[in-house]
Amino acid sequence: MTTDSPAAPNSPGGSATGSAAADKPEQATIPFAIPTVASEVPDAVAKVLGSGWITTGPQTGAFEQDFADHLGAAHVVAVASCTAALELCLRAMNLPPGSAVLTPSLTFCGAINAILHAGHRPVLVDIDEDTLVPSPHTVAAAAARHAPAAMITQNQGGYPVDVAALTEAAGLDRTRVIEDAAHGPGAARDGVPVGAHSFAACFSFYATKNMPIGEGGAVATSDQELADRIRSMRLHGMSKDSWRRYLPGGSWRYDVKNVGLKANMTDVQAVIGRAQLAALPGWQRERGELVARYDAALAGLPNLTLPQRDLDGVQHAWHLYQVRVPDRDAIIAELETAGVGTSVHFIPASHMTAYQSILGPEECAAVPVTDRVADELLSLPLYPGLSAAAQERVITAITEALRSRG
Ligand SMILES: *Cc1c(COP(=O)(O)O)cnc(C)c1O
Repeated sequence: MTTDSPAAPNSPGGSATGSAAADKPEQATIPFAIPTVASEVPDAVAKVLGSGWITTGPQTGAFEQDFADHLGAAHVVAVASCTAALELCLRAMNLPPGSAVLTPSLTFCGAINAILHAGHRPVLVDIDEDTLVPSPHTVAAAAARHAPAAMITQNQGGYPVDVAALTEAAGLDRTRVIEDAAHGPGAARDGVPVGAHSFAACFSFYATKNMPIGEGGAVATSDQELADRIRSMRLHGMSKDSWRRYLPGGSWRYDVKNVGLKANMTDVQAVIGRAQLAALPGWQRERGELVARYDAALAGLPNLTLPQRDLDGVQHAWHLYQVRVPDRDAIIAELETAGVGTSVHFIPASHMTAYQSILGPEECAAVPVTDRVADELLSLPLYPGLSAAAQERVITAITEALRSRG
C-alpha cells in the first residue's frame, strides 16, 4: 500500500504462494497509480532545455495563462507545490500569529503543515459521512469551538465542496477562505469549475494527481492583489524575478518588501504542464468511463459503500475512487496478494503523532465521524490507461475479499 506516494515500480505479483495463483501465469501487479505523460512532453522539454532559460520564465507565464483559460480564472500564479501554494496564501493574508484556521482532519499532511509553517493553529473540522467533506453543520461546530480567522476547504477525491455555504457557516469573508484544490482539476459545481471564481484555489501537479507534472502547484485567484503578492512571495519576496531583470532593458536592481519563500515553478515543469493540460479533458473522460464500470460492478456488493452519490449539480473530478469497506487493513493485504495496489486518503491529521502533540487530545477528539469513516476508506486504482482487463482484476479481487466476509 502507498499513502499518496508515487507508484511502486511494477513488480511481479502473486509470487506463487497463493494456491489459486500457482497454476496461473504470473501477472504484473496493478499499481495504485501511474503518472500519465502526454506524448508531446519529451520534445517540449528538450526545447526548453536547449533554449538557454530553464527556470521561471516565459514558459511559466504561458502555463499560467493556459491554466487560467482552462479554468476560466482571472489570475493563475504557478508555484513549486500545492503545499507551498497553501502556505503562500495564508502568509499573504497577514493574519495575527497563532490564528485559528479551520481545516478538515481528513486531509493531506501538507495542508496541516502549511498552516503550522505559516505560524497558525489548525482547528479540525469533521466530515459529512456521505460526501467525505465538511458540511455547513460541521464547519459551524468547529467555528463555535475556536473562532476562526481563516479556513481551508478540500475537494476530497474530486468532489467539489460548496465553498459559499461553508464560508457562510464559518462566519468568514470570502477573502479568508483558501481552497485546497489538489483534487480539483476537472471538478465543477453548478457548471462553475473549481478555482474559476475563487479568492484562492491551490492546485497540485504532483505525480499521482489528475494533472501530473511530477512536482508543481498553482494558485488561481479572482484577486489581482493576491496574485501580485504571491508572484513576489514565491521567489523570496523579490520585486522582480531574474527573468524580468535579464530582459532587454531590465535592471539589476530589486527590492525585498516582504519575506517570501523559495517556491517558484521552473520553465521545465511549466512546459510539461502545458502539454499535460492539453491532454487533461481526454483523461477526465477516461476517468469517468472507468468510474461508471466500477459503479456498475461494485453496486450491491455486501458491506461496500460506493463513493459520493449526491452528485446533483456536481461534476466530480474522480481524482480517486474511494470506497468504504469493513476490515479495511486486512482487505488491503488481500488485494496486495492478488496483485492489486491500493491507497488510503487519508490518515486523518488527528491520528498523526506530531499533530496530536501540537493540538492536544481534546482537539483530536473533536472529529468522531472522521475517526470512524477513516478506518474504512480504500482508494482503488483509477487512472487513464488502466485497461479493462486490469480493472476486471481489481473488481474480481475486491468482490472475492468481500464475499468471503459474507
Ligand atoms: C497532494 C495533496 C496536497 C499536496 O500537494 P503537493 O503539490 O504535493 O504539495 C495537498 N492537499 C491534498 C488534499 C493533496 O491530496
